Amino acid sequence: MSYQYRCRRCRITSHRVHSRDALDHIRRDHREQIHGGHIPDGEREIKVRTRLGDLPIQYWAIAAAVLAILFGPALLDRL
Ligand SMILES: [Zn+2]
Repeated sequence: MSYQYRCRRCRITSHRVHSRDALDHIRRDHREQIHGGHIPDGEREIKVRTRLGDLPIQYWAIAAAVLAILFGPALLDRL
């Protein structure tokens, strides 16, 4: 799951982020920098279904490491 922040008042939509913390950071920065810390009318967060190709490279690296740990020894035994 990824998220985007949308401010209807400014008519902007943020880039996608992959955590709630990152979304909160974008929302907080936008409110502070553009709206003086106030909550703009019509702001919302959008949940975007993540496709495999959208995952950041760090996720792929972690998945590869987990697969190597799980199946690496079994593959080496067959050699
Ligand atoms: Zn705004």
